[in-house]
Amino acid sequence: MNFSDSEIVASILTDEGFEACLDLLEADIVLLNTCSIREHAEDRVRKRLHYFRSLKKKKPGLTIGLLGCMAERTKIALMEEEQLLDIIAGPDSYRHLPGLLEQAGSGQKAIDTILSADETYADIHPVRLDSNGVSAYISIMRGCENFCSYCVVPYARGQERSRDPGSVIREAKDLFIQGYREVTLLGQNVNSYQWKEGKETVNFPGLLERMAILDSQLRVRFATSHPKDLSDEVIEIIAKYPNICKAIHLPVQSGSNAVLDKMNRKYTREEYLGRIRAIRNNIPGCAISTDIITGFCGETEEDHQQTLGLMKEAAFDFAFTFKYSERPKTIAAEQFDDNVPAEVKESRLREIIGLQQELSSSSNHRDLGETFEVLIEGESKRSDKQYFGRNSQNKVVVFPKTVQKPGEYVKVTIKRATSATLIGEAI
Ligand code: SAH
Ligand code: SF4
Repeated sequence: MNFSDSEIVASILTDEGFEACLDLLEADIVLLNTCSIREHAEDRVRKRLHYFRSLKKKKPGLTIGLLGCMAERTKIALMEEEQLLDIIAGPDSYRHLPGLLEQAGSGQKAIDTILSADETYADIHPVRLDSNGVSAYISIMRGCENFCSYCVVPYARGQERSRDPGSVIREAKDLFIQGYREVTLLGQNVNSYQWKEGKETVNFPGLLERMAILDSQLRVRFATSHPKDLSDEVIEIIAKYPNICKAIHLPVQSGSNAVLDKMNRKYTREEYLGRIRAIRNNIPGCAISTDIITGFCGETEEDHQQTLGLMKEAAFDFAFTFKYSERPKTIAAEQFDDNVPAEVKESRLREIIGLQQELSSSSNHRDLGETFEVLIEGESKRSDKQYFGRNSQNKVVVFPKTVQKPGEYVKVTIKRATSATLIGEAI
């Protein structure tokens, strides 16, 4: 999400005549795009700002700006605290950056953290940064109104709003013409995507279908799906089109009903497992990944065991796992006690990671002997004699180079597997 925002910022500034440079030491302006999701993310920003302080000592004319969620969350406080920042711009203020830069250039501190109800940057053509030329992100909505009790996103990124489907399709077409072969549609809860066009409403399955029929050679992925909103209709559309990737990211957060309720996730363990069954029954071979938070307020050992049990039952192919980190202003911070001791959070996280490694390893070993269509992304990091790419299930596949080039598809039979990678040979 943040990466996609940086691409929007790069586009706005390039149109104004600014140029991106590869060497930080050459830059006259440094903009740091930030995330507030966990305390750790903010700690890293603070460390980076300390480094920028040393840069500014050497180059006093350097303009330093803080963008994104942390700018929104901490507003002027951070500017005063750090005595280093010239600009603070929240996630809905990127269009004002040229003006803010001008203000900063005349020696005034410049702040804009007003959140918008309708800004989607629909007309901005993102400049692709650090791109492999094969896969790209397309933001289809912004903000979130689910108010999961642990989460800062609704406060940092504001109201949920969807982007005009016409602009999404145009962006995908442009990318395809430029040679891209995979797009990932991004939103905090893509299943609640909705756009009114006259009397017609375009919902997420409608948008997915429009994307799928653009070209059979263009793969479509999306993230993130909230389990409460993953409808049968979305599952049907994924099953219907071979170029909609067979990989669903469905964050569960916890396997315990008591914890899910306290997290305000609006589904039960049973309902979640029901969605997993619907996916498995209707989309054979679909990979399912998840997010898990361990050590949420009041989480007991029994709750933790339920999470481990659910992981086994769902047989996740992949999981992002986090220790609960209290975020200011959230419902959990205001109403619940962050009472699971740090060492318990740590040991539960270790167990969860250990179990997921076993599950990922079995998932990859089940693929031995199977043949997958792989979209080549580039040369493998380990060897210039090998390519790497991904199959529809979003698994990384490494194989000896073929005559094809990055951006082309090749069929690969899997010969070996680790918990992270499939190793094969093109046929
Ligand atoms: N909108 C997505 C997730 C966005 S944040 C969804 O609802 O699934 C990505 C992940 O960060 C979340 O799924 C959650 O697992 C984790 N996360 C969010 N807030 C957190 C917090 N306060 N502490 C630890 N992990 C958190
Ligand atoms: Fe945060 Fe919940 Fe919204 Fe995801 S759905 S961004 S976890 S509030």
